[in-house]
Amino acid sequence: MNYYSNNPALKFQLSHPLMQKIVTLREQNFNEKDLFDFAPKDFEDAIDNYERVMEIVGEIAAEIIAPNAEGVDKEGPQVINNRVIYARGTQENHDALTQAGLYGMSLPRAYGGLNFPLTPYVMSGEIVSRADAGFANIWGLQDCAETIAEFADEETKKEFLPRVCEGATCSMDLTEPDAGSDLQAVQLKATYNEHDGVWYLNGVKRFITNGDAQIKLVLARSEEGSADARGLSYFVADNNFDHTIKVRRIENKLGIKGSPTCELVFTNTPARLVGSRRMGLIKYVMSLMNGARLGVGAQSVGVSQAAYDEALAYARDRRQFGKAIIEFPAVYEMLSMIKAKLEATRALLYETARFVDIYKAYEAIESTRKLTPEERADYKEYQKLADAFTPILKMFASEYANQNAYDSIQVHGGSGFMKDYACERIYRDARILTIYEGTSQLQTVAAIRHVTTGNYLKQIRYYQEQPISPEFNSFKKRLDSMITLYENAVNRVVDSKNPEYIDFQARRVVEMAGHIIMCYLLLIDATRDSMFSKSAEIYLKFAEVEVRKHATYIKHFEVDQIDKYRMV
Ligand SMILES: Cc1cc2nc3c(=O)[nH]c(=O)nc-3n(C[C@H](O)[C@H](O)[C@H](O)COP(=O)(O)OP(=O)(O)OC[C@H]3O[C@@H](n4cnc5c(N)ncnc54)[C@H](O)[C@@H]3O)c2cc1C
Repeated sequence: MNYYSNNPALKFQLSHPLMQKIVTLREQNFNEKDLFDFAPKDFEDAIDNYERVMEIVGEIAAEIIAPNAEGVDKEGPQVINNRVIYARGTQENHDALTQAGLYGMSLPRAYGGLNFPLTPYVMSGEIVSRADAGFANIWGLQDCAETIAEFADEETKKEFLPRVCEGATCSMDLTEPDAGSDLQAVQLKATYNEHDGVWYLNGVKRFITNGDAQIKLVLARSEEGSADARGLSYFVADNNFDHTIKVRRIENKLGIKGSPTCELVFTNTPARLVGSRRMGLIKYVMSLMNGARLGVGAQSVGVSQAAYDEALAYARDRRQFGKAIIEFPAVYEMLSMIKAKLEATRALLYETARFVDIYKAYEAIESTRKLTPEERADYKEYQKLADAFTPILKMFASEYANQNAYDSIQVHGGSGFMKDYACERIYRDARILTIYEGTSQLQTVAAIRHVTTGNYLKQIRYYQEQPISPEFNSFKKRLDSMITLYENAVNRVVDSKNPEYIDFQARRVVEMAGHIIMCYLLLIDATRDSMFSKSAEIYLKFAEVEVRKHATYIKHFEVDQIDKYRMV
């Protein structure tokens, strides 16, 4: 079995028309072909290369990681002498991916990476998550190295990046007991010692995934007396250096049990500053979190795929009332909704990945030469799209992964409640997706300004003009009505000029925008390949009702009615 080649939707996404632009920008006209044996010489060669690597990821995921998932879930990691010991299967997964050279995928070749664009890298994340969402965290934290590559000085890059490519694990140390959604409140202290010219970290971090990783990116308060984001800087610490970072305990969790969630104590831990002081949260962590949110989007789509696979197999096999349960409308409707939500969020995932890819490629080019005015305008446009799409992707993909995991159990009936079937673990693993890397509520906070500034509407207008197969003409008309409802709802909310009322209704208008965007993406995909036609139609029917529901709610809701909802 191979989780890449048995899923034609992935190859389809790799053949998207924007890939040509992405690869050309990323490879800067293929100027590394004479420097590295494995650097592609042209676009076809690059795509071929991604596919070959993805075949390997797909095989390891299906043949090693997925079979290990149940054992890892049971065994979990342990803490011995303040160090984390992975479950046996976790170590085996990690070794297999390291041996196959699948760490540092998106890092520059000069440091031992594959220089993959984000789109195929994110795809690998989806594939690994389909096999085991908990393990996907350990592998996916190689994202941290991206921020080292982007913002650190050359000495730091040379010290850390080759190690990531050889399989050194990473962690992202932001959260503290009193600083969760509100990272401005971070207190872990960074002190510069003039005498030896080194920064030292002291304090506690909580809920840190893979907290005993070798390479740690830490958000810390470097400016004494400060209380907000401007007093925070970003550091990289080497956990192999000494024993100044102790794992106090690992959490006993509902799901993703193989992924150690650590409480850490830093005592005079030497660290290097990444980038400029005071920019820790404002610039670097925002960039890191945006990448990680894309990662959770991929993880969520992988979980939805796993939930679908399990439900479909069971529904075909299980017989009641003399026939396979898949023949009952109530069951096949559930299955088709899981699939439609899966395909809608997959379309949103790769659209977002493409936007991020383009603006990041321009960012990399800008570090080597001045961009032309046209390039700069294009860069800014894609950066805005990436900013707008990342929170709706994270929110929808994670919420749908939960709904799909729930329905997967429902399709299994009583058996789904038992440990004997994978859907039980998938359901538990899914639950964290709407929480970490910013809860769904915080994604709404990030997304609402793209509603009020009209960024979503502008992109929706762009999709409206894209060629869509005539067989979907009636759907286009229905989408036009949905857009009108969206515009009216947004006007009503914004015209209130009441910040609390806008916050109260934010989730609804953000969801309306997201539904409309996913409908268009599915119609555009279905125009390119009929394998998406069914899901396009099913999702549109569902989305239409959701959009009308929110529109009705907002239409009949007066500003002063929020008082009734206050629980004080
Ligand atoms: C398994 C696991 C792994 C994790 N891994 C990491 C990691 O690797 N690195 C790391 O740094 N952190 C990690 N975290 C921490 C995680 O990112 C935080 O738990 C998450 O951001 C929420 O913060 P909190 O738990 O403090 O909740 P709180 O911030 O206290 O939120 C509680 C509730 O209030 C809501 N809320 C808070 N503020 C607002 C607001 N402004 N508007 C609307 N609603 C709001 C939230 O949506 C939520 O419903 C992990 C957490 C878990 C559980």
